[in-house]
Amino acid sequence: MKIISLIIPTFNEEENIQLLYESIKQEFKRMAYDFEIIFIDDASTDHTLQEIKQLVSSSTNVRYISFSRNFGKESAMLAGLRHVQGEAAVIMDADLQHPPSLIPDLVKGWESGFDQVIARRNRNGEKPMRRFLSSNYYRIINKVVDVRLEDGVGDFRLLSRRAVRAVLSLDEGARFSKGLFSWIGMSQKIVDYENVPRKNGETKWSILKLLNYGLDGIVSFNNRPLRICFYTGALILLLSIIYSVIIFVQILLNGIKVPGYFTIITAVLILGGIQLLSLGVIGEYIGRIYYETKKRPQYLIQETNIRNGESYERDKSRVSKVYHHRRNQYY
Ligand code: UDP
Ligand code: MG
Repeated sequence: MKIISLIIPTFNEEENIQLLYESIKQEFKRMAYDFEIIFIDDASTDHTLQEIKQLVSSSTNVRYISFSRNFGKESAMLAGLRHVQGEAAVIMDADLQHPPSLIPDLVKGWESGFDQVIARRNRNGEKPMRRFLSSNYYRIINKVVDVRLEDGVGDFRLLSRRAVRAVLSLDEGARFSKGLFSWIGMSQKIVDYENVPRKNGETKWSILKLLNYGLDGIVSFNNRPLRICFYTGALILLLSIIYSVIIFVQILLNGIKVPGYFTIITAVLILGGIQLLSLGVIGEYIGRIYYETKKRPQYLIQETNIRNGESYERDKSRVSKVYHHRRNQYY
């Protein structure tokens, strides 16, 4: 029987592991596929890892990777994708917010030939503030970046092998998966589902984390923010020249009038603000260059029950060679 791989990043989800496993198992009873689960334990501080190990001892289709420290969900997803063995991979959260009951629909989409089957949730039951921020964020980001990002579409999706390989071939260090998934393109299908509240535990996203994530999304896809700085600078320069000419002509005609405090102070403040903002934007990019040039691995593995080479990356493709090489380097 063909295997579907499930990639599940977990961080402090001790109460959800067992529940999740059971409901996934239920779903697959009704399907013509086997499943394997790859748990990525993002250095949880509770008993998540013990829960996972318990599953490992009682079932043969659970594999896990445990990070040496908290590297974040992006790294966790990458680690999972690198070890996929199935025909297709489903990425899902551990908190049951990504309902396993949707898996059959995702698989159906894949069977009918789509490379990416994307689950899209509505925002029912979400805090109004987060809802407001998110939907406006997407409106803005789609004007700024080259790839299309859709509201309600997250990491919950099925990727065909082809798509997994494509995502893995994007070798950047600072990963913004939502954008990467969109960047690879390929045939896509959207499956809608009703937003569900988290089962147990708390969300790991603070407003600040979300803001930073949002900023990552904007600067990791192109240099348009730099362009905006350039054009703002150019516009202000033009206006200033026109303004200076006008003032100069006035001085020639009427002589110098002393009061000018307001003009000076506004000019200084506004220009100062724009300069700082632009510097910040440039700094963002330089920071990224700095991190990318270090070429550090995206994560370090503390322990795992996955043997080296246990993924379809064994294939002889060019991409897989790169990753073999890399993997040997990392371990
Ligand atoms: N997660 C992770 N590392 C982190 C934070 C979260 O692997 O540093 C996992 C978490 O266990 C969950 C998924 O990422 O399976 C989504 O996290 P969360 O539910 O907190 O996000 P939300 O659903 O609120 O966006
Ligand atoms: Mg969640």
